[in-house]
Order: sequence, then structure tokens, then C-alpha cells
Amino acid sequence: MPDSDSPADEIDDKALLEARVKALETDLRQKKEIILAQHVKLEAFFGSSIDALVQMDFDGHITGWNEQAEKIFGWSTEEIADKKVVDTIIPPRYRAAHEQGMKRFLENGETSVMDNVIEIHALHRDGHEFPVEISVSVIDSPDLQEFSAYIRDISERKHAETVIWNQANFDSLTGLPNRNLFLQNLEHEIRSCDRSNQSLALMYLDLDRFKDVNDSLGLVMGDQLLVEISKRLQKVVREIDTVSRLSGDEFAIILGNIDDQLAVQPICQELLDSLSRPYQLDNEKVFLTASIGVTFYPQDSKNTEGLQRSAEQSMYAAKAEGSNRYIFFKPELQQRALRKRKMIGELRKAIDRDELEIYYQPIVNLQSGKLQKAEALLRWHHPEAGLISPTVFKPIAEETGLIAEIGNWVFYHAIEQAIRWRELYDNDFQVSINTSAKQWIDEAAAMSQWFEHLRKKDISGHAICIEVTEGLLMDARDKITNRLLDFNEAEIQISIDDFGTGYSSIPNLKRFDIDYLKIDQSFVRNLDHDQNDLALCDAIIAMAKKMGIQIVAEGVETENQERLLKDFGCDFAQGYLYSRPLPLADFENLLTAWPDHDKSRTAKNTA
Ligand code: C2E
Ligand code: CA
Ligand code: CA
Repeated sequence: MPDSDSPADEIDDKALLEARVKALETDLRQKKEIILAQHVKLEAFFGSSIDALVQMDFDGHITGWNEQAEKIFGWSTEEIADKKVVDTIIPPRYRAAHEQGMKRFLENGETSVMDNVIEIHALHRDGHEFPVEISVSVIDSPDLQEFSAYIRDISERKHAETVIWNQANFDSLTGLPNRNLFLQNLEHEIRSCDRSNQSLALMYLDLDRFKDVNDSLGLVMGDQLLVEISKRLQKVVREIDTVSRLSGDEFAIILGNIDDQLAVQPICQELLDSLSRPYQLDNEKVFLTASIGVTFYPQDSKNTEGLQRSAEQSMYAAKAEGSNRYIFFKPELQQRALRKRKMIGELRKAIDRDELEIYYQPIVNLQSGKLQKAEALLRWHHPEAGLISPTVFKPIAEETGLIAEIGNWVFYHAIEQAIRWRELYDNDFQVSINTSAKQWIDEAAAMSQWFEHLRKKDISGHAICIEVTEGLLMDARDKITNRLLDFNEAEIQISIDDFGTGYSSIPNLKRFDIDYLKIDQSFVRNLDHDQNDLALCDAIIAMAKKMGIQIVAEGVETENQERLLKDFGCDFAQGYLYSRPLPLADFENLLTAWPDHDKSRTAKNTA
């Protein structure tokens, strides 16, 4: 074994050592280069990252700050260096909590925010706060003690979330809570009632005949009106009560903390009074009323579904009793609603069971006394209830869409009679057929087959006249205006039913080439004793004459009414004075017996 202490050995050792040091140096240099390269890479990464990177020491001084941090906080890297986070980017109201948190961490390593992503508010240099998402990690080694926070500005996301939330919970027109939020509020209020042992009142408020008003005003003004209405509603109720808009013209109001149901009555009355004051929209003065149904928790129902149902039932009852009123829920209303549901089922089967029948009521030419036309009026022979008036079942037929099928049934039967009576009695005989707006709006396809049917039967369009309500002419929807023009083209005459009760525009009467106006019964009824109605009938007839439109007076019951109408130049009359609506066979008898001369009086009322 060589002796290591020999001089030769010493030289060898030295060389070896030098070589080792060299190798180590190279290694270190390489490692440094690698680290440097990584560092450059990281810098580039954090510099361009969408997250702000903020580093700080355990005293809270900022030691690192990337480009994105400059962007979202408004401080440059140079400016921020050595400033404390608590003095710069933390909003004043959170500063105390921040210092507390730091203290807790330094004392016992408690790290509630560490390694979690949390949402908080940050402060921009210009003083505005903005929402951020932040995650903090900590390096706690003998060499380095530092926090690194990755911070993302989430203002845009928050804004989008708010927009989406508002969209989902508020009505964009009036700014009121929508049905969605209303339900949440109702549930919340119910729970708070349970805690405080108190009651709440739920009101459903529905505007009366809003559709007619809306149709005549047009969409823009209709919207203005709704905004004004929602303001008035909010003015009446207390701050703690919530008004929501459930749908087009239906509102819900929750009144909390009710200990006396009677106390709700004056509020209802105030709501009705407030809504019925005139609305000034541009140059138009508009009048409107509403119907309110009221129900109480927990007295009437123990859950939201039940409450909504009873509020709705009460509201419908208020409508049925003539509108512009409020009704408190009572169990009978539930019964009524059940009966209605039963009737819907029965009406569905009425056609198949042959329970529908058309009555005909004569329309008399006032100048010649001839019976020239008849109005087809629907009747329902209910197996238990007997004869039911269309005023009872028409709303149900409309609500359920059954009106299309029923309307078709009336049309095809009435056409057969028109053909028969034109052959047997008078070449110009005409049958008037009622239509609901609902048929025109939702069931237009069924109506378009009517023209085809007339062509097939080779019968003139003049054999029938279609009665529509005033509101329909004001409905500017294409499918309705086009269909009206189709009727013009098919030479089917059009009559405006109940004229004077709705909103009409004279230009529309011209545009759709309207053939007849039927003066509503309510004006004719008072002809003998009400100067206003007298003047109105006179004016309607004079105006129609000028426009080449013929007039039918409805509900003529007395000879005096007949005489006045005749003097005004009214063309046709219909009413109990001549005959009530009659079943087919009776009507044919009347027709055969009708004297074709001036004295329309000779044929007496048969029903
Ligand atoms: P309307 O079109 O205004 O029909 C006139 C109503 O006044 C009829 O009521 C008729 O019986 C009644 N009436 C006629 N003359 C007099 C009179 O001198 N005095 C009084 N007090 N009343 C008179 P009805 O038959 O009960 O029909 C009610 C409403 O039901 C009709 O009002 C019409 O809007 C609707 N209707 C009837 N049949 C149909 C139908 O086939 N389709 C549609 N969509 N609606 C129909
Ligand atoms: Ca009619
Ligand atoms: Ca009428």
C-alpha cells in the first residue's frame, strides 16, 4: 500500500482536489443557468398571467408584483415596492380583519385563507373596490418566509352573474320581482310567519280588460301603462311588502305581519282607488280597473301552492262579480273552482254527445220590415244543469282552447242553414256567426279552411257575416290583419259586435272594409230615457252612414226604441221585440210566417 503522506501523493491529492472543485464549479454554473432559465420562464409566465401575483413578507410588505397586478390595482411595481398590502390593496373596512388574520397565523400558524380559493373585495389605487378571487400560499423555511397571493379580478364575471340573476328574478319592464323571486319571497315570508306566530296576506291583482286597452294603445304605450301601474301599487303598500309582476297584467302582493284580517280591507280599497285614477299617456287619457283576490296564511292554506290557488280563485271570483273589487278567499270558492274543472271536462265531450245546439234570432230590416238575417247563438244542453248560456261556457271554451272546435262546429252548421234559407226563403238571406278573438289569435288555421268550404259548396261569401269584437281590429298582429283581409277577399261580410263598449279606431273600420256595426244593447236599452245614449246612438249611426257602414241595433225591446232608431236612419234591428233566439224548427216557422211587408210588428214574439 503506498504511503499517502509522500510528497508525490501530496501533488496527486492537490490535482484531484482542483479537478473536483472545477467540476463542482461547472456543476454549480450549470445549475445556476438552469435556475435562471426557469426563473425567466416563470417571470414570463407570471408577467403575462391573467392572475395578479402579489408576494409579501411576514410583515406584510410587498416584495413581488407582476404586470397583471399593476393592471388591476393601478400601482406600478416600483411604486408598490416595500409598501404594505394592508395600506394599499385591502379596502379600509377589511383592514382590521386582515391584521387579525396575519397575527393568528404568525402566532399559531392558523391558516383559514391558505390554499383555498376565496372571494373578497380588493381596493384599486383610485379608491374603487372590485371583487377578486384569491388564493394564498405560504413559504415558511429558514431561508425564505413569504406569502404568495394569486389574485384574479372577477368584476366581469360578477357583473354577468348579477345580470343573469336579475334576469331570472326581476321583470325587466317594471323592475319588480318576477314569479320566480315572488315564490322565493313567499316561502321566506311563510317561514318568518311561523317564527313570529303572525299571518300574512297574499293578494293576486289582475287588471280588468287590459288586453283591450293594450291592443288599442299599442305595445309601447301599453308598456308605459304597466310601469305606471307598478309604481302606483308600490306607493300604496308598505316598504316591507313586496309587489311582484307574475305575468302580463297579473301582480302579486305579499303583506307581512298581519294580525287582523280586517286591516287588509282598506289596503285593497286603496289599491283599487289608486289604479282607477286616470292615466295620462302622451295625449291619451286611459282608464283602468283591477280585480283583487286575497288569501291568508296560515288560515286559508298551509303552503305556497295552496295559497296561490286560493288567491287566484278569489281573484277570479272578483272578476266574475263584476271586476273592480276585491274578494277574500272562502271555501265556497274552492267548490266553485272544482265545479268549473268539472264543466271543462263536460264541455270537452259536449260536441260528441250532441249537446250543443244553435238558436237563431231574427235581424230585421228596419226600413222594409223584412226578416233578412239571423244571428246564430250557441246553446249547451247540459245533462244535469239544463240549458246553459254561452256567457257561462264561452269563457271556459276560450280558456281551454275548445273555442276552436266549437267555433268550427257552429260555422259548418250555420252555413248549412244559410244555404237552405237562401234557397227556400230569400236569395240574400244571411246568417251572422259570432267569433271569439281567441279563435283569430290562436286557431287561425281552422278558420282558413272556411273559405275552402264555401268554394266547395259553391256559395257566395255573402251568405254569412262574421261578428268580431272591436278589440280584434286594434290587434296589429300580422296573422290577424291578414286573416281579416282574407275574409274581405272571400267577400264574407264583417260586423263589429257590441260596438261602443271597446276601443275602436275609425281608420281600422275603413282599412278592413267593415260592413256592419252592431250598436251594443247597453246603449239601446236606455234610448228612451238617457239623453247621452240617445245622442251616442245618433252619432254612431250618422258616422257609419258617412263611411258607408250599415248599422244593426241590438237588444231592441220596445216599439219606442224601434221608432227612435228608425228616425236616426238605423238599418237593422235585433231584439226581443221581434223574437228571442229560437231553436231551428221554431225559427223556420217564424221565417215562413213572417209577413213580407212593412209592418214588422205583425209577427209577434213567440218565445
Ligand atoms: P252577442 O253576440 O252580443 O249576442 C246577443 C245576445 O243578446 C244574445 O245572448 C241574445 O240572446 C241576447 N239578446 C238578443 N236580443 C235581446 C234583447 O232584446 N234583450 C236582451 N236583454 N238580450 C237580448 P246569448 O245568446 O246569451 O249570447 C251571449 C253571447 O255569447 C253573445 O253575445 C256572443 O258574444 C256569445 N256567443 C253566442 N254564440 C256564440 C258562438 O257561437 N260563438 C262565439 N264565439 N260566441 C257566441
Ligand atoms: Ca253577436
Ligand atoms: Ca252583441
